[in-house]
Amino acid sequence: MQLPIYMDCHATTPIDPVVWDAMLPYWTTHFGNAASRAHAFGWVAAEAVERARAQVAAAIGASVREIVFTSGATESIHLALRGALRARRARGRHVVTTAIEHKAVLGVMREFAAEGWDISIVAPRPDGIVDPEAIAAELRADTVLVAVMTANNEIGTLQPLAAIGALLGTRDILFFTDAAQAVGKVPIDVRAAQVDLLAMSAHKLYGPKGVGALYVRGGADNVHLEPSSPGGGQEHGLRSGTLNVPAIVGLGKACEVAAAQLPADAARVLELRERLRLGLQAALPDVRLNGALAPRLPGNLNLGFAGVTGESLLMQLNDIAVSPGAACDNQNAAPSHVLRAIGVPDDLARSSIRFGLGRFNSVEEVDYVIGKVTTVVQRLRATSPQRTTRAEPEEVR
Ligand SMILES: *Cc1c(COP(=O)(O)O)cnc(C)c1O
Repeated sequence: MQLPIYMDCHATTPIDPVVWDAMLPYWTTHFGNAASRAHAFGWVAAEAVERARAQVAAAIGASVREIVFTSGATESIHLALRGALRARRARGRHVVTTAIEHKAVLGVMREFAAEGWDISIVAPRPDGIVDPEAIAAELRADTVLVAVMTANNEIGTLQPLAAIGALLGTRDILFFTDAAQAVGKVPIDVRAAQVDLLAMSAHKLYGPKGVGALYVRGGADNVHLEPSSPGGGQEHGLRSGTLNVPAIVGLGKACEVAAAQLPADAARVLELRERLRLGLQAALPDVRLNGALAPRLPGNLNLGFAGVTGESLLMQLNDIAVSPGAACDNQNAAPSHVLRAIGVPDDLARSSIRFGLGRFNSVEEVDYVIGKVTTVVQRLRATSPQRTTRAEPEEVR
């Protein structure tokens, strides 16, 4: 076992060596521009891109013409939301989303709200799951899009996509999902869920950083999006610019590996996660689980350690890489919008830590983390001036 231990897989994941090997030749020998039609360098690159497109499509139950390559989930989200809303502004200016979306989604929503759009933000239940009925209650004649993430990046809860897709049914409302945390971790079928637009990212599934994809149901001719960048007309004209071939090859390979290993990987990671959760809850009193235990990403654990601050805890866990509960708020002290939305009191939110387990963690590492966290929490609690928050007994599970 090597220190420090990486347990922050919601922030990013290491590249799988198999993925790395697949990418290598495309930096050097096969460096061609995939848009060069006149020679073999271009053909080889284009062939690799199309192989990757098929691998990505297969991982989510899509077909190849429905996949657009981007620089990551953030860009996919922006292309999907800005592209769809701008293309539909004449039809209506109402959008439904949730309070626990990633900042990339909420940021676009704020932008459109400032332009006069009406944005309904649905609160999740206290267990972190969005009730499809709560979405249904917000739908109106001028609703053009519903955005609900597949899996939350802080508390790992999985949303009932198929139920939401079914209630949108034949209505002329687009269904967008941010699946950055979910692809490769839990089964995804865009047809079964009746999703129109799905965003994903390679670096969350053991692929390289700076590459992602957007699924567009039926392709660009079916779901009309305003292009994000005019130019050479790559990617159905939606996203011009020379394709990052090695990165795209990596995304494709990462999807292929994830899809092939999904049941085994998910079972193994879940076992590690449960070992960690049960170990910590057996060793320490007043440990609260944020978000429902199920349905949840196998590798996610978000725990509040009553009576200590996440900040002091993280500082002393110097050989373990985990995140504060408010992972995306690292620069400001405000408690996470997700923990707030599920009703976690601010002091308990500030005592929360997010563990993100993944493909490369071991039992040995989990046992080390249990021991270390237990020691540090006991020490901090013993020296802290007062125990302010006690977790509700029924929540200590
Ligand atoms: C990481 C993440 C993103 C952003 O993905 P990038 O590829 O880093 O831009 C968006 N949404 C969720 C839920 C994420 O976890």
